[in-house]
Amino acid sequence: MRIRGFAGSRARGVALVSGIALLAFAGWIYFGPVPAIAVVETPAILDRNGLVLAEPLSERGDRSQWLRADALPPVVVQATIAAEDKRFYSHHGVDPIAVVRAAWHDVKRLRLVEGGSTITQQVAKLLLQKRDRGLVAKAHEAIVAVRLERHYDKQQILALYLNLAPYGNQSTGISRASRLYFGVVPEDLTAAQAAYLAALPQRPGAFNPLRDGRRAMKRQQQVLAKMRALNFVTQHDFDVARAERLRFEHGEHDVIAQHFIERLSSGGQAPSPVSRHVVTTIDAELQREVQGIVRAQQQDLLNHGAHSVAVAVLDNRTGEWLAWEGSGDYFGDEFGGAIDGVTTLRQPGSALKPFTYALAFERGESPATVLADVPSHFPTAEQGVVYTPRNYDGRFRGPLRVRAALAGSENVPAVAMASRLGPASLMRFLRRAGFKDFDKNADYYGVGLTLGDAEVRLEQLVAAYSMFARGGVYIEPVMLKGQPSRLQRRVVSERTAFWITDILSDGDAREFVFGRGGNLEFPFPVAVKTGTSQAYRDNWTVGYTRDVTVGVWVGNFDRKSLRNSTGVTGAGPIFHSVMLAAQKRARGPLPADVAIIDPPNDVERAPVCALSGLRPSTYCPNVTTEWIASEAPVKFCSWHHSGGSVDWPPEYRAWAQAAESHQRAAAPRVASKHAPLQILSPPNGATYLIDPTLRIAYQSLKLRASSPQVTWKVDEKKVASTDWPLHPGWHTIEASDSEGHRDTVRIEVK
Ligand SMILES: [Zn+2]
Repeated sequence: MRIRGFAGSRARGVALVSGIALLAFAGWIYFGPVPAIAVVETPAILDRNGLVLAEPLSERGDRSQWLRADALPPVVVQATIAAEDKRFYSHHGVDPIAVVRAAWHDVKRLRLVEGGSTITQQVAKLLLQKRDRGLVAKAHEAIVAVRLERHYDKQQILALYLNLAPYGNQSTGISRASRLYFGVVPEDLTAAQAAYLAALPQRPGAFNPLRDGRRAMKRQQQVLAKMRALNFVTQHDFDVARAERLRFEHGEHDVIAQHFIERLSSGGQAPSPVSRHVVTTIDAELQREVQGIVRAQQQDLLNHGAHSVAVAVLDNRTGEWLAWEGSGDYFGDEFGGAIDGVTTLRQPGSALKPFTYALAFERGESPATVLADVPSHFPTAEQGVVYTPRNYDGRFRGPLRVRAALAGSENVPAVAMASRLGPASLMRFLRRAGFKDFDKNADYYGVGLTLGDAEVRLEQLVAAYSMFARGGVYIEPVMLKGQPSRLQRRVVSERTAFWITDILSDGDAREFVFGRGGNLEFPFPVAVKTGTSQAYRDNWTVGYTRDVTVGVWVGNFDRKSLRNSTGVTGAGPIFHSVMLAAQKRARGPLPADVAIIDPPNDVERAPVCALSGLRPSTYCPNVTTEWIASEAPVKFCSWHHSGGSVDWPPEYRAWAQAAESHQRAAAPRVASKHAPLQILSPPNGATYLIDPTLRIAYQSLKLRASSPQVTWKVDEKKVASTDWPLHPGWHTIEASDSEGHRDTVRIEVK
């Protein structure tokens, strides 16, 4: 009895203890701890349309982006549930039906296989990160899954799964994966794309879309079918999704706009690191086009000894950078590929000339103003030292209207104008236009300022030119989308901006130097200027339409000179292609014959004498038209008189006399048979400058003598052609005839 009683109470005790233990166990399962969740985010740098420019690796060695539980894109949720766990919303972490089914399969195959795991169990597995795939591990995952269901609601668990699941190629989470494989944010995924991504975490290694996108297609079709079966999508949407041809990205955006990204982080324009995305102003598609254009030109550039290219494209209206390429090859370390040519200080050559004339226009000059392209001397800061500028071809053209002087990039009139304005005020003006890096004072540069002796950055050049496109208002460029510019100011009047633009887009006006039909001409108006620094170290082309400003620099970071064996080369061809691409992005594919700037109210088109730039009298032989200030007093030409005589202003008289005698001398058969032989071209002591961006005729020298039957020698070597290609250095040119007469001249080519 006692024994029974004892036995009975023992049984009750065991039952009680077991019951308590069971309850404790259940409680432990249910209330026990869940693994900590470490949110590892790698902030993405995006282009203006949300495409990824760069995603640095996290400390964990992968890249991820966290989706918020309350902002899960429905199509992503549906695809994931269809692919992984169709009873997700009805179970409590473990799906008994799935377990039984999986167990039945295991029994049939006599081995333990994966399967039957709910999304919650997979989250547990991802959090626990156990290598062991045995029964104990599975039980542990199931326990943690139950706990997770107590801790979090269904949306939060889904978010955990979508953020932690591996999608291959070092990408964790669907945000990173959707951008890596399809180049879009998860919100923009189509049903077909979402189904594809939902298929990946099962076998992320085997389904590598970067290698072969088709491998996971069968599984994607199954996921789509399940989405239809679960009524997540209509029959129509299902048919559309099933037929969608997926286009895969190839991971190349890891090197898009690398220089720009570095500039962003070093330039203090990036927001504090708490922000998840940095949305930049870059247009990734245009950037890719620019990089492709540069690559396509690389061989040609190498043939000319140029190893680096910088390109910058600016949106004129907003001041936003659309494209930014710093060297042409970021990873090329032989020639400093990581150096950013957009921000590097270099001599701009003639690319600064428009600013000299812009200041002159602000001071009352106009495109009809005539400047003296005659041999001249200008005082320099050094006592007793004068500066004697020359044009590229060594010629002087006498009176030259500002339109021709600027369009043809003549040096002498530009220096004459800079001298008239004064280097100090020109420098102040350049600073207002955004050139902030002049480290010497105005006296040091002197009139050489207008010839580009002072160094500037390509980004400054582009920003300053866009000021003209904007009608005279300077905007400090921005790197982040939607960020207002820190600085806006009017630098020149609308009229000045219009005049500069009208001249720089005038193909006829520059024809006498640049020829027609080259890289500076477009099916729509483009205001453009080239520049070449001393010894041909740098070559520039900058220009703008109403919409965009494009700047191109070609050179070497070690300042080696470029070679110029064949005619026009350098920045021009790249500028041409980039401008076409940029304008197409801005305006669409239609030909857009949009005026860059409309003529303001204070200008009018009027006839002027082509020589004096004044209103024509009845004696003026050549009359052209020009935009002149409507308030300017009418002054008639006083140069031309009856009978074709010209009354030259004093500064032109010497030049006119020389030109006349030169013409007489150049007339055929002027020299008598017995006169000693004379070289007519080149003149003795002349200096020639090489600029390969100019017409080929300007890079060779016409050899002419008073008798046509002569033998030519340059540096004691016989030359067959009378077109002698210019080579740098001092040269002795000799002409001799059969009667033993000879003449010699010395010239210098720079
Ligand atoms: Zn006249």
